[in-house]
Amino acid sequence: MNRFAITTLALPLFTTAVLADGAFYGDPPDKTHPWAVHDMNRPQPVRVEPGTFSSQDKPGAPPSDAVILFGGKPEEIEKWISDKPNGEATKWVVKDSVLQCVPGSGYIRTKEEFADCQLHIEWSAPSKVEGNSQGRGNSGVFLMGAVEVQVLDNYNNPSYPDGMASSIYGINPPMANPLRAPGEWQTYDIIFRKSVFKDGQEIDPGYITVFVNGVLTQDHTPLEGGGGHMRRSKPKAFPEKGPLKIQDHGNPVRFRNIWYRPLPKRFVDGGESSRMSEEATAAKRAEIAQGIREDAAKLEGNTKMLRLFESLCYAENGGARELATVAVNDFAVAMKAVPSGKLESKKGEIMQVTKALRYLAQWQLLPKDFTAKNDLEAIIKVQDWEPKKK
Ligand code: MG
Repeated sequence: MNRFAITTLALPLFTTAVLADGAFYGDPPDKTHPWAVHDMNRPQPVRVEPGTFSSQDKPGAPPSDAVILFGGKPEEIEKWISDKPNGEATKWVVKDSVLQCVPGSGYIRTKEEFADCQLHIEWSAPSKVEGNSQGRGNSGVFLMGAVEVQVLDNYNNPSYPDGMASSIYGINPPMANPLRAPGEWQTYDIIFRKSVFKDGQEIDPGYITVFVNGVLTQDHTPLEGGGGHMRRSKPKAFPEKGPLKIQDHGNPVRFRNIWYRPLPKRFVDGGESSRMSEEATAAKRAEIAQGIREDAAKLEGNTKMLRLFESLCYAENGGARELATVAVNDFAVAMKAVPSGKLESKKGEIMQVTKALRYLAQWQLLPKDFTAKNDLEAIIKVQDWEPKKK
C-alpha cells in the first residue's frame, strides 16, 4: 500500500490532530538534506503576483517582485548610462514608450548590477529591412556585461549559427529560430547562472537558458567563459555582480519591457536547495531543530511532546529528549488507566502519538521497544484500531 493510501484512510479517523502536517511522514533529514521529504517546517515559497503576457500592441505587466529596468517611462533612461569609460549619459532615446538604440552612440549599461537572474526583454528590429547576415537588426543583450545573447533579425536571414538570434554568441547556436518578422516584437526570457569558482577551480561553468517568443532555444547551455567574436573563450570566474549591457551594432533596434528577478543561490554556490553540503546541512538542521523547540515551548500537552520529538529528527538535544520522554511516559500511564469502554474518545490521540513513536523507532531516533510505546501498541491491538490494509 502506498503512503497516500494510508493517509486517505487514516486522516478522517484522527480528527483530534493539531500537529503540523507532514511531521513523522516522509523520509527524515539526512547528511545532505536538512529537511524531511514533504517537510512542513520548510519555508513556504515566496508569494509572487504573476504579471501578464505581452501582445504586439502592448507590453505585459511584470511579476510583482521584478526589478524594472525599463518599463516605458521616459525618465527610466536614468537607469542606464553609456558604456563608455566615463559613464556619461547615453544618447539612446525613449520614444513612444520604447527604448531605441541610436547607432554610433555606443553600448548602454544599467546602473543596477546583479548576477543570477531571470531576465525578460523584448526587442524589435527595424521594419525597413537593410543589410544581411550580421548586418541586419543587430544588437545584443549582455548578461553581467559579458555574455551576449545575440539580438539579430534572422527572419529569412541566415548567418553563422553561433551568431544568430538568441545564440550565446560564439558558443552555441539556438536550437530553433522562432523569430517574428522585422518590426514585430520579439520576447526573450532568459535564465542566467554565473560560473562558480572555488580556490581558483571551476566547480560550475554557469548556465544560460533562453526562450524566444515562448520557444526554448538554449537549454541550460554551459557558459564556457562567456563567448565572444572570433576567439574561443576560456572558463572564467565572474565578479559578484555586473550590469546588463545592450549593444549598439549600428542598427536602430528598439527595446521594451525590460525587467529581472534575482534568483536564489544554487547548491554549488552555497544556497539552500534540495541538496546541500554536509557542513551546511548540519548547521541548517541545528537551526530547524532550535526553531521547533522554540515553537514547542509555546505549546502544551501532546502537541508539545510531539513537537519536541519532531525536533530530534533534525538534531539531538538532551533537554528536548528528556521532556518529551517524560511526557510520553505520563501519557501512556494515563491511557492505560482509562477504562476500556471509554478509550474510544482517546483513539485519535493514541494513534497519533503511536504513529510518531513508530516513525522515530523506524529511523533509530527512539528504541523499537520501550514501555510507553509497548503499552500504547497493546491498547491499539486490543481495541483493534489498526486501519485494515487493503
Ligand atoms: Mg550582437
